[in-house]
Amino acid sequence: MSRHVVWSKLSALARKATLAGIDVIFPPACLLCGEEIQQSGLLCAGCFAHLVSVGQPFCVRCALPQSSAECLNAEGECLECVQHPPPWHAARSAFVYEKTARDLLLRLKYADRPEYASFAGRYMWQAGEDVLRQGSLVIPVPVHKKRLMERRYNQAALLAWAVARCAKLRCLPDGLERRRVTGRLAGFTKAERQQEMEGAITVRSAYVSDMAGRDVVLVDDLLTTGATASACTKALLQAGVRSVFLLVAARVVLQKNADFGLSILEDE
Ligand SMILES: [Zn+2]
Ligand SMILES: [Zn+2]
Repeated sequence: MSRHVVWSKLSALARKATLAGIDVIFPPACLLCGEEIQQSGLLCAGCFAHLVSVGQPFCVRCALPQSSAECLNAEGECLECVQHPPPWHAARSAFVYEKTARDLLLRLKYADRPEYASFAGRYMWQAGEDVLRQGSLVIPVPVHKKRLMERRYNQAALLAWAVARCAKLRCLPDGLERRRVTGRLAGFTKAERQQEMEGAITVRSAYVSDMAGRDVVLVDDLLTTGATASACTKALLQAGVRSVFLLVAARVVLQKNADFGLSILEDE
């Protein structure tokens, strides 16, 4: 091979490397199983097929999938929401919390790689299209600074950034503040959970004027009992926010004897 041919081949490779970025050195791999795929930041077809989206019919207020549309009233709310309305206006979830969604969220929580948030954020944006209204603020459920130091980042904030970027909305990653570390909430009664969360979450005073009269999309990775989201919603409403919409990556469908590692994922 002549020197000229070698040189042109090398420069073509370098051009390709610049265009494709890191993909030349590390070929795109499925975020879950590592199988080689065409485009980075996605799942392979096999893993994707195991993700369960929250499809119709679901309760518009708590995002819980329903077995039939007859389980919902004319407003699209389930019986539980009619009897015990949550403080937020509506809730949307991208996925049902099962094994694949759990694996995805665990990696988001513990692996220091933002592509998990970008992936989930895109599907959350699609699921929450009707609640991500123009002018809304996107605010994550906060973690206590002690936990933030242990983990280095708040996974809900990464999701909030990703959703806000897709929806072209303003994100206030530190709009809410967790004043104290709270205990595990699953397995306790509703009253106990409320007591545990009482006063634990407040709006950062610097943002009160920004939030007044605005709609807020509150973002979290999971919706389980809703105790944490309720505490956030109440703090936002007290600060003068017009309405709160909850947007999560995965909705937990609580079933007896089905524990997909909630104790690891549930936000303390
Ligand atoms: Zn895969
Ligand atoms: Zn409901």
